[in-house]
Amino acid sequence: MQLRRPGDGLNTPELIGGGSCISIDYGATLALTRRRECRPSLEGSSLMTNTITQDLTPRAWVGCLGCYNVGSLNGLWLDGDVCDDLIAAGLAIDGAHSPICKRCGSDEFNVFDHENFAGIITGECPPSQAADAARELAGVDDNEREILAAWLANGMPFDLDAMRDAYIGEYSHDEAMAEEYLDSTGLLDDAPEFLVRYFDLAAYAYELAQDMFEINGHYFRAY
Ligand SMILES: [Zn+2]
Repeated sequence: MQLRRPGDGLNTPELIGGGSCISIDYGATLALTRRRECRPSLEGSSLMTNTITQDLTPRAWVGCLGCYNVGSLNGLWLDGDVCDDLIAAGLAIDGAHSPICKRCGSDEFNVFDHENFAGIITGECPPSQAADAARELAGVDDNEREILAAWLANGMPFDLDAMRDAYIGEYSHDEAMAEEYLDSTGLLDDAPEFLVRYFDLAAYAYELAQDMFEINGHYFRAY
């Protein structure tokens, strides 16, 4: 059997062990494999391509609950790390105890919508919670945010060390992961060719996946 060599890399050889969580969704995995967006350059060489850099800045739409409760949307999209400074944003003025809405006098504000928080916050929340999340996220490299989102989507805690320790890599499907594992460990290197030909990669990939969970093509050890 000729094993193909996938492009993704394992960051650990320790794939076999305890744990029981498994999540295999070949269709979703294939559909959600990371895409790198490129477009042809309209200037200069026709062979030149530009990579579009995605803006990963966390942003929150912060609005006044008092205004909302009387049917008025009064709020703004703000950068996440400053979305709790309502006076600086022009939404509020100093009140007796806390900032109050410039329009209705309410001191209750809420994050009604948000983007690029990698799943640290979900749904509506107080602006202070969103701001704390954005500040935590500032310590996460851009290329790790998608991994973090996958990690959190599986109900794991916001623990970067645990995430990095458990992370295996990104693959289009289980067999690609298994191929990379075989390649990195050299398990079949000394096996006779006629035996390699009969190696059941699908079954082997299934066994490996028993000790992992996978979200959007990102594989993690489940123990
Ligand atoms: Zn208001």
